Amino acid sequence: MPDYVVGIDLGGTKIMGAVVDAKGKMVSRVMKLTQAERGPVPVLDRIVDVIKEAVSASAGGPADRKRIGMDNIAAIGIGSPGPLDPDKGIVVFTPNLPGWRDIHVVEYVEKATGKKVFMDNDVKVGVLGEQAFGAGRGVRTLIGLFVGTGIGGGVIIRGKLHRGFSKQAGELGHTVIDYKGPKCGCGQSGCLEAMASRQAMCRKIAEQVKAGKETVIRETDPMQITTRMMVDALRKKDKVVTDVMTDALEILGIGIASISHVVSPEMVIIGGGIVDALDDEMMDVIVNSAKKRALPLVMDNVKFVRASLGEDAGVLGASVLARQGLTGER
Ligand SMILES: [Zn+2]
Repeated sequence: MPDYVVGIDLGGTKIMGAVVDAKGKMVSRVMKLTQAERGPVPVLDRIVDVIKEAVSASAGGPADRKRIGMDNIAAIGIGSPGPLDPDKGIVVFTPNLPGWRDIHVVEYVEKATGKKVFMDNDVKVGVLGEQAFGAGRGVRTLIGLFVGTGIGGGVIIRGKLHRGFSKQAGELGHTVIDYKGPKCGCGQSGCLEAMASRQAMCRKIAEQVKAGKETVIRETDPMQITTRMMVDALRKKDKVVTDVMTDALEILGIGIASISHVVSPEMVIIGGGIVDALDDEMMDVIVNSAKKRALPLVMDNVKFVRASLGEDAGVLGASVLARQGLTGER
């Protein structure tokens, strides 16, 4: 009886793979650089290599004397950057992987491995991982938001990733906050991502530096402002950085309130490098902003927590995707 699945987290820089048991224990973990510049087929071959290496790395390890081979693998789950079609297993296109247009990822990996393969958006899969084995363990209905260069998210309803009719549900970063706001990468204006992502924060800080405001940050190029610089500035009580970040967190709370009116989550999981670096006081800006803007009862007893799996959320979520795919619960 195959007890294991392989979870794959495909990123623009690296591919992570792990053999995972039903309890979310990783019995092996492998990483390879994506080498996205080589184009789609070499990347697909590297995914297959990561799968095979993860399986052979898990065979006969000191902690688990039982040999695990391809026969013990029930299915494979993949979290990939999108937009993608999870039913057809096709990545439609993605800015993170140059040259990718209508790439049949699932078909390719199924042919190469002989296993059933299931794929969905990387961030949504990460939220699924947090729900199953991380901060959201035991919680059935939740939303997850990851603040990075952009803002990704996912919605879990009754233990399953909510996909909706178009299979695109959960694009929380494109919740519109201000239709006259700054341009978003998606082409619209004033999306949550355009107003509260790390990139948006850096842009606003750089504008203040250019305007000659007093701050410990010297960079006028937003691309040169690092998370470390921002966190150091916060510790030094730098007014410019504190104000910009407080404003972004307030906006994040507005987004969470709007999303909560639709979903009514029991928990809100917030993650991403910049969020991990915030102290509890700054986290409370998000919570208070969301609570004060929601209708009565909507936010009562809703738990706000930090994501807890770090970069393992992707592979663990992909393992859940694979198991749910096999049982038809996906
Ligand atoms: Zn957008």
